[in-house]
Amino acid sequence: MTSNSKNKGISTKAIHAGEDRRSSTGASAPDLVMSSSFLIDEEVSFSATNLDADSPYIYTRWSNPTTAQLEEKLAALEQAEACIALASGMAATTAVLLQFLSKGDHLVISSTNYPGTAEFARQTLPRFGISVSPVDTREPEYIQNAIRSETKMVWLESPSNPLLRLADIAAAADIATQQGALLVVDSTFATPIASRPLELGADLVVHSLTKYMGGHGDAMGGSICGSRELISALRGEALTHYGGVISPFNAWLIMRGMATLPMRMRAHEENALAVVEFLQNHPRVEVVIYPGLDSHPQHELAKRQMDNFSGMVAFRVADAKQVAERMMSDLEVIHYAVSLGHHRSLIYLMQTEDLIESSYRLEGEELKSYRATAGDGLFRLSVGLEDAKDLCEDLGRVL
Ligand SMILES: *Cc1c(COP(=O)(O)O)cnc(C)c1O
Repeated sequence: MTSNSKNKGISTKAIHAGEDRRSSTGASAPDLVMSSSFLIDEEVSFSATNLDADSPYIYTRWSNPTTAQLEEKLAALEQAEACIALASGMAATTAVLLQFLSKGDHLVISSTNYPGTAEFARQTLPRFGISVSPVDTREPEYIQNAIRSETKMVWLESPSNPLLRLADIAAAADIATQQGALLVVDSTFATPIASRPLELGADLVVHSLTKYMGGHGDAMGGSICGSRELISALRGEALTHYGGVISPFNAWLIMRGMATLPMRMRAHEENALAVVEFLQNHPRVEVVIYPGLDSHPQHELAKRQMDNFSGMVAFRVADAKQVAERMMSDLEVIHYAVSLGHHRSLIYLMQTEDLIESSYRLEGEELKSYRATAGDGLFRLSVGLEDAKDLCEDLGRVL
């Protein structure tokens, strides 16, 4: 796609952005370049610190022609100046946290979010002298109250794992800007089809590409989108030195998956609405959480901030452990497995005791509020692209 592609629609960008003029053969599909190093025909510095966007390809840990195409596509969808792709969502998450936080700094982070992120923030960062305040980021006021003079970063996940809580990104951006802190949003559950946090004032957007972006459950990846300045700092240090580089093959698979992201997200949402209706009418289901429901406590924010309600649903039933066992043996279509955002439907019981003890360490009011919604556990259902009727029949069989 040519340089005046900025005003093209999101479906056109999902297919064409980044996939241009790199083929030496005239191939219409992007080249897969599985080379770890590149022939050098001009003098270049051996230090990654001296590289910039115009440097030639040298070594795939710094940049690679296939990965660069994926990065351009991601940047186009997130309306970002620049992007780097990494080996996994966690590689992207740890790259951002370690790149921009140092000894003595303070981080404000959603109190319930992806367990890997929650555990890294609570267990690893303090070892490096970084203090961390987990707060309920549904309330901008709580974010504001947690800010200190040393606060260097605010980290949101919206919608968040597993309670599907939202954070008001524009309100958080005002707070972070006033403090001179970076606002980072893990937008994995939303995808750029639903929300574009940079447009709302965030500084960086993190994705697990393993989920909706790749969309087919066959490749792991992560990404960080933001300004040229921030991304160039990340490329020079976090990417090249921490080394969480994505395989060009995975970049190629994810790019292929992303071409259908806009239409997949419409289908995920449509199926999720049908499954949610079935669950709400099922006598054994006690609670159904979906941002697209009027009954979601933040439905107004969801309508304002999301162009698509995504395919992630959480629900609660009595005797969840027995139901989970029936799911493992009796589901015919839905896979009882972790992860999300694939074309296949996936379901998994997120047990409250596990999450509270190992990941979130909630106390007092926060613990009460978690239990009030999640009880002993929530089923996290990633509604896939199968026929909604088959998904409902499958759930009916085990509930
Ligand atoms: C899966 C996930 C991650 C981690 O991504 P990986 O690709 O598994 O490393 C981070 N954040 C969210 C919200 C996720 O769902």
